[in-house]
Amino acid sequence: MKVLVVGGGGREHAIVEALRRSGAETYAAMANQNPGIRRRSKEVLLGDVTAVDRIVSWAKERGIELAIIGPEGPLEKGMTDALESEGVPAVGPSQAAAQLETNKEFARDLMRDAGIPGLPQFWAFDNLAAFEKFVNDSDFEFVIKPLGLTGGKGVRVWGDHFSTKEAALAYGKEILERKIGGTARFLVEEKLVGEEFSLQAFCDGRTLAPTPLAQDHKRAYEGDRGPNTGGMGSYSDADHLLPFVTKDDFERALGIMQQTVAAMADRGTPFKGILYGGFMAMKDGPKLLEYNVRFADPESMNVLPILEDDFLEVCVRLTERNLPASVKFARKATVCKYVVPMGYGSHPKAGEQLKVDEDSIRGTGARLFYASVDEKAGHVYTTTSRSLAVVGIAATLEDAESISEEALAFVAGSFYARRDIGKLEVVQHKVDRMRKLREGTLK
Ligand code: AMP
Repeated sequence: MKVLVVGGGGREHAIVEALRRSGAETYAAMANQNPGIRRRSKEVLLGDVTAVDRIVSWAKERGIELAIIGPEGPLEKGMTDALESEGVPAVGPSQAAAQLETNKEFARDLMRDAGIPGLPQFWAFDNLAAFEKFVNDSDFEFVIKPLGLTGGKGVRVWGDHFSTKEAALAYGKEILERKIGGTARFLVEEKLVGEEFSLQAFCDGRTLAPTPLAQDHKRAYEGDRGPNTGGMGSYSDADHLLPFVTKDDFERALGIMQQTVAAMADRGTPFKGILYGGFMAMKDGPKLLEYNVRFADPESMNVLPILEDDFLEVCVRLTERNLPASVKFARKATVCKYVVPMGYGSHPKAGEQLKVDEDSIRGTGARLFYASVDEKAGHVYTTTSRSLAVVGIAATLEDAESISEEALAFVAGSFYARRDIGKLEVVQHKVDRMRKLREGTLK
């Protein structure tokens, strides 16, 4: 089957590898020369991945039978609608259903109107005077969120990114003036305290088939310090939960997503594609931080390599509205670590050569996924975004983490990686913190 994959990052390389295991013939549309994707693809269309018309006619000319859209940008532009109007089924929501990610207020209003649990208190502002009154009257910590897409870098959290009312006001003003996230309007939410986890699920408009839970690390530096990034790495555990997330938390989180999908169908904009719920595990159960309408990057690299069912068949059944209620994954732990250019998060250094010893990485048992690198004359160079990821897979988290480290030793050049991701003591710290939170003794 001829399958088009849109996007040139680590997530899309993982999608392409999963498709290859299914025997698909893959075609790629991407902005950079991702060597991992290029090697596996029959043909590559280089250029802007949000250029809907260009990509759709290229796909039509090549007789593409299925498309999988990796990033949110093309979904916001209506790539699924355009492909489907040309008879090409797509794994990805319509423009209307993509609003779950592309408009944070839409997602919150939908949950509130449908009475879906897991909602933090929230407010929306489009004028500074009203926000100023809110800030002056408030006596609690909050979070400020632009409504639209900001590449995961627009949200500011009290205590993490600002710590005074003046700074909150300044950011509100900046969003209104510069229309950060696309509109002169923003959300304010109560600050939630707990441990974050990611739940990604296949969805055919009605049925949700979950993948194992994973935890991302958004901060640039070890110990969860530094600026927010697209994600520095992630891990998942062999039981498909996380050491600080209970089965009950998982079921409640899935229930929130199921009710959201039902509400989307009720309003005539059914959600078909990959739904990602970013949750905060809290004392009284999980709360929803955000929805994404596609696989997460890095967490896609935790789940796709351990998928035991046939990926292509799952995708086809998804587009035929005939998804099974569950999809099988190996009972393995995974640790994914991203290699990023020096200065990533503030002033990333592009154009640095990375030497990747692929054979030796393969020898460790780790998977290698290329991301935003460029390949020129057989050499790999950094761009300003994340470069490549290694994923250790083993029966335990501890072993998966050491495999990821062994693999990293075979990447040479000037780069940075967070070595703490998936380390036993770091995970234990989260478990202890969550226990205190449940007991009510967290300071
Ligand atoms: P979002 O793009 O909405 O997921 O926000 C990005 C990050 O901001 C999340 O992964 C959380 O770390 C943080 N965040 C978002 N909303 C909240 C909230 N209500 N309370 C605390 N942290 C939040």
